[in-house]
This record gives sequence, C-alpha cells and structure tokens, in this order.
Amino acid sequence: MTDLIFATGNKHKADELRKVIQNVNIMTLKDINFTGDIIENGSTFFDNALIKCKTVYEATNKPVIADDSGLSVDQLGGAPGVFSARYGQPNFDDKQRYEYLLSQLDYSKPLDASFICCLILYVTPGRIYSVQEEVRGVITRTPRGTNGFGYDPIFFIPSLDKTYAELSDNEKNAISHRGKAVTVMNEIIRKIF
Ligand code: IMP
Repeated sequence: MTDLIFATGNKHKADELRKVIQNVNIMTLKDINFTGDIIENGSTFFDNALIKCKTVYEATNKPVIADDSGLSVDQLGGAPGVFSARYGQPNFDDKQRYEYLLSQLDYSKPLDASFICCLILYVTPGRIYSVQEEVRGVITRTPRGTNGFGYDPIFFIPSLDKTYAELSDNEKNAISHRGKAVTVMNEIIRKIF
C-alpha cells in the first residue's frame, strides 16, 4: 500500500480521512516525526492547503494530502475565513471564539454563512489535484448541540433543522464541507494509487 502523508497534527481529521480513504496508508506528521514549521500565510483556503503540501513534500519527497477549512460569514465579508482557527484572540477556546463571532453580527441583517474545505493532493510538483467544497447554512443567535468542535454549535442547516453540533459524527461526515471534499478526493486517489 502506498504511504500518503496527511499534513495535519489533528488526529480527529486523520481518523475522518481514514474512514473514507482506504486504499492508501495515511500517515500524520506525528507518525513521520515531522518537526518543521508550516507557515500558513496564504489569503485563501487553497493557498494554505498548498503551502502545507509543498512544505511537507519538500521535506519528505513523498505524496502529501492537506486540507484547509473555515467558516465564512456573508455579512462579515467572508470573515473569519482563513483566520477561523485564530479569530478574536489566538488563545480563545472554541466557545469564546464562537461567542466573539456572535458579538460581531448585526442581527437585523441576513445571517447566511458557508463552511468551506479545500483539500489538495500533491503527488509531485507537476501533479497536483485540488477539491473545494462548501456547505451553506445560517448562523444561530443561540448555540445548539454539544457534538463536534469549533463553530459547530452556531452553524444551522435549515433543511435538517439542526446545527452541525446536533449531528452525530457519521451524519456530519455525510453532509459536511470536509466530508464532501474527502468523498470526491477519494475517487481521485482510487484512480491514481
Ligand atoms: P484548519 O482547517 O485546521 O486550519 O482549521 C480551520 C478552523 O476552522 C478550525 O479551527 C475551526 O475553527 C474551523 N472549522 C473548520 N471546520 C470546521 C467544522 O467542521 N466545524 C467547526 N469548525 C470548523
């Protein structure tokens, strides 16, 4: 089985990927003892996913997969976007971060938002595959649910009448921005490895 390095330190994400992508051996940065710095200073999810891939490929010379994701709120001009993980204060916990986001909203305006995930497979510098998927939803004024992480309790899907945090892991993976991107990328990986 080919090794595929997943440029993440997040075990939750790696487990999610392994559930779907099964014909390659997915290894995390911890598995390969990667200790280099990855400077995510891109202005788009695509830029940041590519930076992660390139940095790890240059250190290992092996195929790499990386993702970058975040929440983009229409009335905030797309914020927090690529800054989702450090919006407000870098040391905020998840709850403080989504409460900060709620404090930035004008509730007389539409509360539509997107969760976006860009996933890049970097086989060699000339062979790069990118998938970007998006899920539309509405920011809730009152958080609901206890599952998941990050902004899940305030991201409401009207067609399901639930927030991301009210979905089980399997339900969320079936419809989420990351779940959708991983499913498409799995088709590509099955064709080339
Ligand atoms: P990254 O993709 O690991 O750089 O993280 C992006 C940030 O976006 C996370 O730290 C979360 O704040 C947020 N985020 C991305 N995906 C999700 C999700 O599925 N639920 C809740 N928050 C998310």
